[in-house]
Amino acid sequence: MIHKSIIIIGGGPVGMSLALLLSEQGKNVTILDQGLSKNNDGRILALSYASFDIIGKWLNHKSSQIRTPINTVQISHNGLGVSQIKAEALNLDSLGFTIKYSDVCEQLLAEVRSRSNIQLVIADVTRAVDGNGYAYVEYQDGINKHLLTCDLLIMAEGGKLLQNIAKKINHDYEEQAVIFHIKTKEKHNNIAYERFAKNGPLVLLPYNKHYVVVWSLKNELASQVVYDEKYLTEMLDKEFTNRLGGATIIDKPISFPLKLVQTKQKFFKRMVVVGNSAQTVHPVSAQGLNLGLRDVMALADLLSNDKEINLKNLVNYDSLRNMDSNAVIGFTHLLATKLESQNFMMKHLRGAGLIGLSNLPVLQNFIARSLIFGV
Ligand SMILES: Cc1cc2nc3c(=O)[nH]c(=O)nc-3n(C[C@H](O)[C@H](O)[C@H](O)COP(=O)(O)OP(=O)(O)OC[C@H]3O[C@@H](n4cnc5c(N)ncnc54)[C@H](O)[C@@H]3O)c2cc1C
Repeated sequence: MIHKSIIIIGGGPVGMSLALLLSEQGKNVTILDQGLSKNNDGRILALSYASFDIIGKWLNHKSSQIRTPINTVQISHNGLGVSQIKAEALNLDSLGFTIKYSDVCEQLLAEVRSRSNIQLVIADVTRAVDGNGYAYVEYQDGINKHLLTCDLLIMAEGGKLLQNIAKKINHDYEEQAVIFHIKTKEKHNNIAYERFAKNGPLVLLPYNKHYVVVWSLKNELASQVVYDEKYLTEMLDKEFTNRLGGATIIDKPISFPLKLVQTKQKFFKRMVVVGNSAQTVHPVSAQGLNLGLRDVMALADLLSNDKEINLKNLVNYDSLRNMDSNAVIGFTHLLATKLESQNFMMKHLRGAGLIGLSNLPVLQNFIARSLIFGV
């Protein structure tokens, strides 16, 4: 049996960012991932200014060509009341950027491959077990089964192997995020729109010279519109894009099922859960990876003082991360459920809230700063 110091299961953006930070501390890290090419993943992510502060140094010089700044976020609903958050009000150059999930992964992977103290193994992990003396991992590559032990096991596999771990929240929204790219007559001017639409929360993100739409729709409607672009365009124009001169869909819509999951615990005996493994949130507030990268920073910081793994340093990990995680989950769930409601009272309260928010720049800035930098 081979023994490793640190094993990270999952070479997504969270797993790779953590491996890079630990490698910079001089630690040896092994990443196990079942398939590192993410070219088939059409997700476009809105990453906050603070997230780019963390991963920006690992993105190569080409990154300015593959990311688009967001300078303003406008929040509205199908009634009176609009609120707007501008980068200049927060003394920032931009609120964040949009970038393809596959581009982030590709660039982090190139950096990971250049580090001699990170070992990358293509492996389908079938079992991960925490323990007092060591943790162990079973994986398969082709037909061969392998067993590894380690001092510290980090779960960054998006939660797929954590079915039996106790959850604080496990909620199925019975919705899918339908994602597609559109052209509109009006240029995007680096404005993102968040709209509490009749059929579900609708997000328009500026990306390159066009918009990416992320529309969270009930399962039945989502399954229908991904195959009916004419109907989807009509729905979108009526709900929002008529004001931008009308939309033309320029690629095939794809969909992702939406869940809210949060584990009860983040640090166990020798195992830590980070990123989507610790919490998977609705994409309505574009916070999933931003939150995951803050997990990564906190964990790397706790491990930074010692050359060897000192488990005592990790006992504060849960309390360090719970406030941020709970705040993002609470805010996101509110946007995804209560604020999306078409109930008459809710619609008026939401309108009043948006008008109130636009008249309270201090509160608006507080919310914006919390979403960018964490709580
Ligand atoms: C539609 C949609 C839109 C989103 N938009 C945004 C946004 O705008 N902004 C934002 O911040 N976040 C957004 N998110 C959330 C964001 O995508 C996730 O938070 C982020 O990808 C989590 O990264 P991760 O590395 O923790 O997990 P993942 O990205 O899920 O990566 C997990 C990795 O683990 C590997 N893996 C899984 N199982 C195994 C196994 N058994 N063995 C070995 N390897 C395994 C996978 O191959 C993968 O590489 C969005 C999500 C969705 C669905």
